[in-house]
Amino acid sequence: MKLSEIIVHAGGAFVPYEQAHVGLLTHGLQYGTGCFEGIRGYWDPAERELYLVLLHDHYRRLQTSAKILGLPLPYDLATLADLTVELCARNGFETDVYIRPFVCSGAEDVGVRLHDVPAFFAIVAVPHTAYVKREGGLHACVSSWRRADDTTAPPRAKITGLYVNSALAKSDAVANGFDEAILLSHDGHVSEGSAANVFLVRDGVAYTPDPSQNILEGCTRRCAITLLREMLEIPVVERAIDRSELYAADEIFFTGTAMGIVPVVSVDRRPVGGGEPGAITSRLRELYARCVLGREPRYADWVTRVYRRTASVSS
Ligand code: PMP
Repeated sequence: MKLSEIIVHAGGAFVPYEQAHVGLLTHGLQYGTGCFEGIRGYWDPAERELYLVLLHDHYRRLQTSAKILGLPLPYDLATLADLTVELCARNGFETDVYIRPFVCSGAEDVGVRLHDVPAFFAIVAVPHTAYVKREGGLHACVSSWRRADDTTAPPRAKITGLYVNSALAKSDAVANGFDEAILLSHDGHVSEGSAANVFLVRDGVAYTPDPSQNILEGCTRRCAITLLREMLEIPVVERAIDRSELYAADEIFFTGTAMGIVPVVSVDRRPVGGGEPGAITSRLRELYARCVLGREPRYADWVTRVYRRTASVSS
């Protein structure tokens, strides 16, 4: 599917992608003054249904990000969710999708600020291709780029301009022969990946940086914590994590909307555990894959069905 064939929601209407424009001087583009979400939809060919994952959680986070920036969102939660379902249905997607809602400063003058600016809101949805190409697990490095600090630009908000931090770390990692970066915060504790939260497992306990470690409070992170505790009976501790704990870990995995749950098999060239995806990570991945297709009744409210062609969810 080409971008020219896609319908988007922009400026209050459903329009073809190529008819939705922002001006060259738009603040969101020039200064990064905007925030966004990434939402996944999983296509089930047997059910002929498209399942959107954690729609409300993502839009709640967009509301929080927009509030932190002081940008108004034009719709309430229910309307944002409805528009997203309608957008997917209008496009007739019969494939996995990635949905990108965003709100940014639509001002087109010179002068950086967040006050006295109009907000521009849009939702774009595109067919999704695998974000992580390496099936056997990722080789990660600890980045020399530090995670932005809450006192600089708050990573708790999914701010457009903050992704310079992620892009520098990711491209540096790739240039040095790794798949992904793990960023430390300024005090040297583990923060997160370029576009994912990070977990480690040691002696049967899972650990992940707590929200004060300059992380984005990930939706997939919350799912992973829930599934580890409730389904796999693995205790989860949220706390500050040292770099050397990455080297000592039995298992490490990333969580994120685009990549899902992905094992890390080495950090700074040191194998994680035996250098293979870990058993807990693999079980969690399988469970999460069922949840995003609405196949775990306990977590059926994690997904929203676009087409509602069948009355019940299969198991
Ligand atoms: N951290 C960063 C910096 C991210 O960009 C993402 C992806 N949105 C995540 C963590 C994971 O968050 P989520 O599970 O909500 O996608």
